[in-house]
Amino acid sequence: MSSKACVCGNTRLVKLTSQNLKICTDCKREIPWNLDAGQQPVYRPHRSDRKARGGGHGV
Ligand SMILES: [Zn+2]
Repeated sequence: MSSKACVCGNTRLVKLTSQNLKICTDCKREIPWNLDAGQQPVYRPHRSDRKARGGGHGV
């Protein structure tokens, strides 16, 4: 399937599309989600995305 996997070998990664990150469900490592050439990140024209980062990054 996907070629993307965590360094720990876990391939069950949670996509954080808005931040271009993936989170390993095993070791909770944040993995940069490298976009393919020509693929644009999903940017929102408004600034409300900054609020989404407030807290909630526990464990
Ligand atoms: Zn991992």
